[in-house]
Amino acid sequence: MTFSKITENRANRFRRALYSWTGEHPREMPWKGERDPYKVWLSEIMLQQTRVEQGMPYFNRFIRRFPDVQALAKASIKQVLKQWEGLGYYSRARNLHETARWIVRSQAGRFPEEYSSILRMKGVGPYTAAAIASFAFGLPHAVLDGNVHRVLSRYFGIDQTMDHRAGKKLFEDLADRLLDKEQPARFNQAIMDFGALCCTPKNPDCTSCYLRNQCFAFKLDRIGQLPPAKKSKPRRIRHFHYFIVADPGGQVVLSRRPAGDVWPGLYEFPKVETDGPQAPKVRPAGVDLPPRAKIGKAVLTDKQVLSHQVVHGYFYLVRMPETPKNQLTQPVDKLNRFPMPGILARSRKFWKELLS
Ligand code: SF4
Repeated sequence: MTFSKITENRANRFRRALYSWTGEHPREMPWKGERDPYKVWLSEIMLQQTRVEQGMPYFNRFIRRFPDVQALAKASIKQVLKQWEGLGYYSRARNLHETARWIVRSQAGRFPEEYSSILRMKGVGPYTAAAIASFAFGLPHAVLDGNVHRVLSRYFGIDQTMDHRAGKKLFEDLADRLLDKEQPARFNQAIMDFGALCCTPKNPDCTSCYLRNQCFAFKLDRIGQLPPAKKSKPRRIRHFHYFIVADPGGQVVLSRRPAGDVWPGLYEFPKVETDGPQAPKVRPAGVDLPPRAKIGKAVLTDKQVLSHQVVHGYFYLVRMPETPKNQLTQPVDKLNRFPMPGILARSRKFWKELLS
């Protein structure tokens, strides 16, 4: 299938309908209309795996704390991860930090201004590069994400996912053909907003949609089948047993999560992973617990659902007669200085009340 034959008239009709709809349904976002590439970059990275409503307060806090690329480059990774705490997909924060340092050190603080150089930045794929290039620099690159794919699949009646190269290429060509080359930022913002607010995955608001007279899915009652569903893999189930090793003064042992697994670089309590919910028979590696240290039942259990995994957490309190040696220990009321995965961050108050 080719879309090179879509006439300029048809493309114009599509754009006009889109602009009319978004003109009447404005979507407020703190980064909207932003031309500062640093802020555009940050907002796009944040939104890669995060809903707009969830991302907004993080964006505002992040910008207050690190107002420009120089401030971000100067910060430590611990400070950056702390600002990111709770947002998930922490590699995004590490890539932002690393790239900010690269921009300051190797690019004299100047943000890359061409699509190809933006695309070479860590953590930036074609979608994010197109968004930065068009919003910050007005370059004619069409965004193509899940929202845009859904709109185009329904409107043109294309029964294809973007899981394979041919499907992706087809939608890329179509998005490029439709892009308003004179106003790429306006077009990209409009189609993203329209996909997020009107042509939603479930129950799209077709009655208020200005594209419906030309929409294949609407006319043929195929909305439920377009776009075709992606095959999703079952989530991996994990069981993490955390040991809150505390001395009489309320100091607890912390460790840092390794690279190559979820939450790399974040802080946690010493842990043992098992295949099931049963309490582990072994003690966490690297923590010198006395052989007779009493470990009772879990005093707290919790669960965190990630995109590809479900982590069940079981928390055991281990009281020590003195402060463990050669360990990173922290007063329990200062744990909020450390970036932690959500499953641990939300029990900080509980431990503080229990041990202070
Ligand atoms: S008519 Fe419905 S399905 Fe078609 S583009 Fe509009 S909102 Fe989407």
